[in-house]
Amino acid sequence: MDLCTPVQYVKGVGPRIAGLLGRLGIATVGDLLWHLPARYLDRRAIAPIAELTPGKDRVVIGEVTASGVVVTGRRRTRLYEVQVNDGTGVITATWFHFYPKAMAGRFQVGRRVLLAGECSFFGGRAQFVHPESELLDAEGEAEVGGRILPIYPATEGLTQRMLRRAVRAAWEKWRSALPGGLPDAIRLGQRLISLAEAIEALHFPETEADVAALNQRSTAAHRTLIFDEVFYLELGLLLRRATWTLKTGATVPHRDEIGRAFARSLPFTLTAAQARVAGEIAQDMAGTRPMHRLVQGDVGCGKTVVAIGAALQTIGAGYQVAFMAPTELLAEQHTRTIRPWMEALKIQWALLTGATRGKERRQILEKAAGGDLPLLIGTHALIEEDVRFARLGLLIIDEQHRFGVAQRLALKQKGVVPHVLVMTATPIPRTLAMTIYGDLDCSIIDKLPPGRLPVVTKLYDDGQRARLYEGMRKELAKGHQIYVVYPLVEESEKVDLKNATDMAAALAKVFAPRYRVALLHGRMRAEEKEAIMRAFCLGEVHILAATTVVEVGVDVPTASVMVVEHAERFGLSQLHQLRGRVGRGRDQSFCILMANDRHSDTARARLRIMTETTDGFRIAEEDLKIRGPGEVMGTRQSGLPELRVAHLVTDAGIIATAREVAASVVAGDPALVNPEHAWLKRTVMERWGERLALGAVG
Ligand code: ADP
Ligand code: MG
Repeated sequence: MDLCTPVQYVKGVGPRIAGLLGRLGIATVGDLLWHLPARYLDRRAIAPIAELTPGKDRVVIGEVTASGVVVTGRRRTRLYEVQVNDGTGVITATWFHFYPKAMAGRFQVGRRVLLAGECSFFGGRAQFVHPESELLDAEGEAEVGGRILPIYPATEGLTQRMLRRAVRAAWEKWRSALPGGLPDAIRLGQRLISLAEAIEALHFPETEADVAALNQRSTAAHRTLIFDEVFYLELGLLLRRATWTLKTGATVPHRDEIGRAFARSLPFTLTAAQARVAGEIAQDMAGTRPMHRLVQGDVGCGKTVVAIGAALQTIGAGYQVAFMAPTELLAEQHTRTIRPWMEALKIQWALLTGATRGKERRQILEKAAGGDLPLLIGTHALIEEDVRFARLGLLIIDEQHRFGVAQRLALKQKGVVPHVLVMTATPIPRTLAMTIYGDLDCSIIDKLPPGRLPVVTKLYDDGQRARLYEGMRKELAKGHQIYVVYPLVEESEKVDLKNATDMAAALAKVFAPRYRVALLHGRMRAEEKEAIMRAFCLGEVHILAATTVVEVGVDVPTASVMVVEHAERFGLSQLHQLRGRVGRGRDQSFCILMANDRHSDTARARLRIMTETTDGFRIAEEDLKIRGPGEVMGTRQSGLPELRVAHLVTDAGIIATAREVAASVVAGDPALVNPEHAWLKRTVMERWGERLALGAVG
């Protein structure tokens, strides 16, 4: 009867619905109960169609009188239109994105439906564009009418009704299993309610509830869940920091001759920002406490060099270095960058990824454990149970990584623990970084290397394809390379792959015989990917048609054009990352966003931001306004802990308070050994122990 019960056991949720819920990240009963409505519709007032006025949150109920695909306009745009009549008038609902079969099945003539959304008037007739819709039967009407209706984040195939029923069933059976949440002293001090009261108020709002407050997430129930969530996270981070700083780190005295030799080997001089951050790192590492530092810097600012400098110092002091990248592609790229320096300095290194197997892997592990391997570069494979180091002095984690991972590897080592350097291009405001990375010190590389021209960004639609190809030819003629990225939509990997493959074939035809096109995607074998990347770096492949595997970190300075197909399907931060793949050399680079589908003005306005600025912070902020932080940064990628309720930007105030309260608890009792804190300690371990690797720390 606990909240970890798989969601499939909730009454009415079979394996099929459980699968759909899984797509939303809902695996357990607890996940389901914490899957809060994204917004609320005021269904207390259903309007007669004849009396509709333009504006948001209009709700009508009526009967479908016509339904079908309509082709309109000069561009022959395909729409799906549904006419609904409620006896007082007719309203047209229009969809630009749709699966015709699904729509025809859903909106059969004669069906009773509820539509809700923003009402506008077109030629004197009321219309909804992409409204929320619900099929009603007699019972359904009772279920949704006359009250405040929660609207949940959903996914294709999962209706609001299924979600509401599942939540209701879970609530009925598991309400008594809900944990107590915060100790009374804190709860009352913050004027919060109990978790059970909060969950109930948000899923089943009372008829007299304040809809505006619900939609602004400013109810006591919201505050309660947000505070509860971040308080324990902050407590966990503070605990970890407290124990971490008690350990002894590898002392790496800064040796100027190593720094100078490295600087001489570079084809450029470090920027002032790079030098400053390198200094901060050197100072940390020279001390006896383990460093725990986050280096933030926009794409292309040159974080890798700084990390390698730190690695060389560490190796010079007789320690080993582990360098972890999020993808095989990046790990391989790092080996390409690092190889010449390591060869010149006669330093041994190896690459360990999921693809390293058998004898080769055994030999690498043996050498690492024996202390004979100064540098090991790799992916997640580095944190597998059997990877050990004799004298790990520094762990570098490149480009956003799973939270807590660092500690797990770092603490496997007995005695002296390694310094940890995390590098990220996730442009989060400094204050925010402090809160969520809580236990890391922050360094920022805030300037790009000199001579970089901002990437010129253009928004094209399908009609401009000829122009796009012409521009591409011009760049190719200059000896530059080009990326063309195709989105992956999780719904169907197969279809996507086919799309990407088709695109590569089409490009090959257009640019043959002069230029070579290659396809790169995540499901290729490591050797294949490596070979293609190498060919692309060398200019043997001119156009790289890729899925988003090139999103993070890939560095090919002679590539000058990034074309993004279906740009509207990407988040802005993701587009910023993609754009960061070009503009790395001295020549002018271009980013062409192809917005192929017909889409709304908001989508276009959103994309236009990309043409106006190259400032990652500004872009992230715009993105945050539109979507949650998890989505923006791709929680997994960003290395941020996954939060179910709290929104890092809008809830900054509550987060700050929670952090203060947590800090005051830890201030008097850093390891939470006081019996009075036993409950807090148990709860924080239950909730965050695994994810923050607190077990290893405590
Ligand atoms: P990121 O911070 O996005 O990881 P990289 O480390 O990949 O960026 O560096 C981007 C590119 O800039 C690389 O080609 C690198 O060699 C180059 N670079 C780094 N520092 C400088 C510098 N100070 N001057 C000129 N180019 C630099
Ligand atoms: Mg990088």
